[in-house]
Amino acid sequence: MDGENITYERVWAEIDLDAAVSNMESMRRNLAGGAGLIGVVKTDGYGHGAVPIAKAIDPYVAGYAVATVDEAENLIRHGIRKPILILGVTHPGRYRELVEYEIRPAVFTMEQARALSDTAVSMGKTVRIHLALDTGMSRIGMKPDEASADLAAAISRLPGILTEGMFTHFARADETDKTSACRQMELYLNFVKLLKDRGIEIPVKHISNSAGIIDLREAHLDMARAGISIYGIYPSDEVDKEKVPLKPVMSLKSHITFIKEIQPGTAVSYGGTFVADKPMRIATIPVGYGDGYPRNLSGKGRVLICGKSAPILGRVCMDQFMADVSGIPEAEEWTEVTLIGEDGGRQPVDRITVDEIARTGGGFTYEIICDIGKRVPRVYLRNGRVVGTKDYFEDLYQDFMS
Ligand SMILES: *Cc1c(COP(=O)(O)O)cnc(C)c1O
Repeated sequence: MDGENITYERVWAEIDLDAAVSNMESMRRNLAGGAGLIGVVKTDGYGHGAVPIAKAIDPYVAGYAVATVDEAENLIRHGIRKPILILGVTHPGRYRELVEYEIRPAVFTMEQARALSDTAVSMGKTVRIHLALDTGMSRIGMKPDEASADLAAAISRLPGILTEGMFTHFARADETDKTSACRQMELYLNFVKLLKDRGIEIPVKHISNSAGIIDLREAHLDMARAGISIYGIYPSDEVDKEKVPLKPVMSLKSHITFIKEIQPGTAVSYGGTFVADKPMRIATIPVGYGDGYPRNLSGKGRVLICGKSAPILGRVCMDQFMADVSGIPEAEEWTEVTLIGEDGGRQPVDRITVDEIARTGGGFTYEIICDIGKRVPRVYLRNGRVVGTKDYFEDLYQDFMS
């Protein structure tokens, strides 16, 4: 990022919207003929910011999927007009909002369907639903059997209800062995047939997550739900990465706040888990687990400073940690630090990926990005220029004044 554009100094996440667009193009090239994409932007776009991500990928998707009504309404409030599906269960107390805003709920019981139908009819509207089918996650959804087919048919005939789609979710599509995923697909397709026997056609059939998009073209059906791959991260190391080249979207940056020399025998951070055995030059970096930077990187992780690796010394604290800059004499107070992403300091350019952080700390890639906290402002880039920012620095509470 261009120095003059920097409005944040302690820690900030740069979100490369061009990379997200490139990831969508990459997925689209691998899609089976006729299949479309649903952009999964739950958990505030996997920590990247749902609204800017949704706007950037809008030309590539038929609609969006989120986890909650509030996430759906936030997208709508910010001008997103394409259909939005809620992947989890919605409390009946919020059915009126679903109907009013034309948000698509996941439905799999007669109780849910009746209440939705009653709500829609009372409002003089139609609610479009997606049936949820449980083919192996044991999370939500109806079982793929004859009784459920009768239920699905009955649901689809209720007044005020239009069955727009039906989905299931893979539990193990990210593994090399696709036996389980193929079994889930078989159960799903067989259920589609049971519905057809009952005169019910499902317009939008969707079962694939990112792993399915990358590795299971036959599972793309009418649409595929792209999540982690939008953000440039592979669902696992076992998928065929060559087929869908992805670019990381998020970088995490900071500045050194303090540099000092320490003598042999000096302990660093809580618990004194690191003790210098020689004179060292160490930098304090004002980021910690309170920002979502994983504490399990304590004594194991690294950051990039002036294009070089600086190992983390001792425990990561809530708001700060220390790194060894003995081998980086050019590092000074306020020098930029890269915690995630590329450091353009030297050639060849070094990069810390979310995968590396997960491997080093024993964490999970999805969790690492989702957990980048509210204290970290997001800076959005398009063509290398800042096109928007998001922060919580004026995060206001109601009714707690004075
Ligand atoms: C989160 C989620 C996805 C996206 O999965 P990725 O692995 O991130 O692509 C798709 N479908 C459902 C039902 C989900 O819950």
